[in-house]
Amino acid sequence: MKKLFGLQRVVVEDVELEDDGALVLSVRPTARERDRCPHCRRRCPGYDWGEGRRRWRALDLGTTFAYLEAEAPRVSCKRHGVVVAAVPWARHESGFTRSFEDQVAWLAVQTSKTAVAALMRIAWRTVGWICERVMGEETAKRDLMAGLTRIGVDEISIRKGQRYLTVVVDHDTGRLVWAAPGRERKTVEKFLDALGKERCQQIKLVSCDMASWITGPVSERCPNASICYDPFHLVKLATDALDEIRREVWNDARRQGQRQLARELKGARFALWKNAENLTERQALKLARVQKLNQRLYRAHLLAQQLREIYRVPFEHATLLLDAWLRWARRCRLAPFVRLAKTITQQRSGIEAALRHGLSNARVEQVNTQLRLITRRAFGFHSPHAAIALAMLALGGLCPPLPGR
Ligand SMILES: [Zn+2]
Repeated sequence: MKKLFGLQRVVVEDVELEDDGALVLSVRPTARERDRCPHCRRRCPGYDWGEGRRRWRALDLGTTFAYLEAEAPRVSCKRHGVVVAAVPWARHESGFTRSFEDQVAWLAVQTSKTAVAALMRIAWRTVGWICERVMGEETAKRDLMAGLTRIGVDEISIRKGQRYLTVVVDHDTGRLVWAAPGRERKTVEKFLDALGKERCQQIKLVSCDMASWITGPVSERCPNASICYDPFHLVKLATDALDEIRREVWNDARRQGQRQLARELKGARFALWKNAENLTERQALKLARVQKLNQRLYRAHLLAQQLREIYRVPFEHATLLLDAWLRWARRCRLAPFVRLAKTITQQRSGIEAALRHGLSNARVEQVNTQLRLITRRAFGFHSPHAAIALAMLALGGLCPPLPGR
């Protein structure tokens, strides 16, 4: 029976098949495991019998529900007060066995929301609680922030335009190492506190967007770090500027009754955004039409394209290219790009640092994309902490293996 349930450090007292077909295993911890505090594992004097016998749901046996049943006495710990004694088969304050929870965590990382809930016969909200417990235990075992030197700090939204997480990614491993709700100076300071003074000194590179709530505390506390602006964010600023021009030109065309032109411009949206080499034949044709129809819009397109180019060439070329781009943008007579040129000039050191360190956009974006997918799946969890737990399990390398394998 013990083997069937994958139990260790447990004495089986009785097995019973209930009327509804559920299998109930009566157990107790072995003598060595008894009367321990769930927080510090110390042996403590007994306090009382708590709320009597209770059950923990275990992994199903075939299609049969299975439970462990045992006494849940309380102990009196010198440090943690009166608490329900630890049991070797389950995490503290859980109604599920450890292997049940490990399997749920593994499935939450690997499969869809409905698959986990249906297969394990639990609510999606419960999955959130389980993820939190599993992550809590795994982070206590491992130090994710050991040896960090190059990190990326970013924000992602976890509910449409409402709640945000601040996330920290290790550039060298691509792993998520820290996340917390909020996107303000305080949040970044919390991370730097967790990192500690000594390790702050070891940080060589921090990539982020041009937000002062990140750059402020980082430059105060990480004296050896150069701050790099993520290529991703700069490219996005250029795309936004291009979009502004496109809307402007389109509105003008409509107002002046040039319906044919307005329609063509609307259809050219994706052709304008994409990299030249990724265009389909039809999109290339559209772009050629834009060139003919509207010089302003075509110029904006070229400006946006050219800015991306600086991340594709070696550093020395990139700085020359950036100089040329700035000269061009300043006198292009397109207001959004003139503004962008000003921003870039002001933030030039951070942009150049990214070029010098060869900061790859690909990795940052890849982690961001995965994070976004995971946090979207975490809709319906009871708190942002559960969303963080799922993200840490999936992208922080904390996911436990399937039980028994
Ligand atoms: Zn204790």
